[in-house]
Amino acid sequence: MPPVFTDNSYARLPDRFYARLAPTPVSAPKLVKLNTALALQLGLDPAFLASPEGVEILAGNKVAEGSEPIALAYAGHQFGNFVPQLGDGRAVLLGEVVDKTGTRRDIQLKGSGPTPFSRRGDGRAALGPVLREYIISEAMVALGIPTTRSLAAVITGDPVIRENIMPGAVLTRVASSHIRVGTFQFFAARGDKEALKLLADHVIARHYPDAKSYRELYERVIERQANLVARWLGVGFIHGVMNTDNVSIAGETIDYGPCAFMDAYHPETVFSSIDQTGRYAFGKQPQIAGWNLARLGEAMLPLFDEDPDAALAQANESLGNYGAIFGHAYLGVLRRKFGLVTEQESDGELAQSFMKLLADNGTDYTQAFRKLGDGTARGLFEEPAAFDAWDATYRARLAQEPQDEATRRAAMQAVNPVYIPRNHKVEEALAAAIQDDNYEPFEKLLTVLAKPFEERPEFAAYAAPPAGGSANYQTFCGT
Ligand code: AMP
Ligand code: MG
Repeated sequence: MPPVFTDNSYARLPDRFYARLAPTPVSAPKLVKLNTALALQLGLDPAFLASPEGVEILAGNKVAEGSEPIALAYAGHQFGNFVPQLGDGRAVLLGEVVDKTGTRRDIQLKGSGPTPFSRRGDGRAALGPVLREYIISEAMVALGIPTTRSLAAVITGDPVIRENIMPGAVLTRVASSHIRVGTFQFFAARGDKEALKLLADHVIARHYPDAKSYRELYERVIERQANLVARWLGVGFIHGVMNTDNVSIAGETIDYGPCAFMDAYHPETVFSSIDQTGRYAFGKQPQIAGWNLARLGEAMLPLFDEDPDAALAQANESLGNYGAIFGHAYLGVLRRKFGLVTEQESDGELAQSFMKLLADNGTDYTQAFRKLGDGTARGLFEEPAAFDAWDATYRARLAQEPQDEATRRAAMQAVNPVYIPRNHKVEEALAAAIQDDNYEPFEKLLTVLAKPFEERPEFAAYAAPPAGGSANYQTFCGT
């Protein structure tokens, strides 16, 4: 049974929200990965999607029934500089599906050919970044972090030219929506208050039905973004390109370009080759999220109040709470990581002194927390004495907790993963697929990452950082 798009709410918004166009067909589509579990969850038929006709749809060669393909308009601040028009330059929203639980989701093809927003780009995606997004977004799901998802990866049969010539591919991306901070900025920059209002109403209906005003909408977005970034910090995730066009209004992680997980803990860790100044370094992410939310507030000003001064005062008041909201969310994440169920003033300090220890020792972030829960963290430190001093404070703190040790350990194991998408393992999987058409390492990695909290001895190699660390690891935007 083919997918049916019965209710494409975004395509009913006015013409200036998007460009209507079908994906550009490809030469020889071949399905390399289908997310069967996700298909079922969406109420789609995996057998159909894997059939020749299904693959034609996933490659963009055929438009499914009810699909109203559109490339969305948006603007954005890229590395701090405002670009009034970006938009889907290599993606097309096929439409929306509503699953059995009533949840509405966008189905988008990424790498589906040029659009009116392509600027100088070819509208295509290379196989490496497509598989990378597949792996990391699905790992995020298993880690319990809000994210867009990956339904399928298809190779196109058409090469794309990047640093090298690469096989081309199309990713089918699933999202609560593809509305970004930059979507609001697009209309704000044009002084189009009518569109801003329509957009805000659409977002309220779709994502924040309990928001009773535009101001409340802004505050809900602030809350979700604060919580999202707190969760990223909890697993060592570095988004890498937190431009306002890559910030989802629904609070999902979106646009997996140069993202990567940190091995050795250091707040200044950056992997992206284009982030020369460390703007989007691991520890900068909370501050940058606040900056991005300020840009959203600016864009929404005309919705808050007719009087510009009053509007600004309202925006500032809402944004002023961001620091506290983030701090609270982050402290919650940290307390869970340390296995604390009660709250004490000094918990933040306890966490920060542990982080400093990790930074000073170049300790692996993921292993440190996992082994802390197992009671075997000491061996990870070059200077065990420094750890012992910290550990004495920690144990004194634990002595004031109501839980017994076994319960605490189990709780810590449920939030501190054994397996994250280690950079070297991701690269290994991509290289085998790209160079040898061998998808076994890719599939195996997905299997490991699907259950990140469950230790499985046969996958021990996936739990370890690379031999020499990730110091020289670089990620690319994949454009
Ligand atoms: P990104 O850095 O991936 O978030 O992309 C920033 C902007 O560049 C977005 O408007 C993308 O649609 C556009 N873009 C990225 N890669 C390409 C490409 N290969 N062809 C056309 N547009 C692209
Ligand atoms: Mg983007």
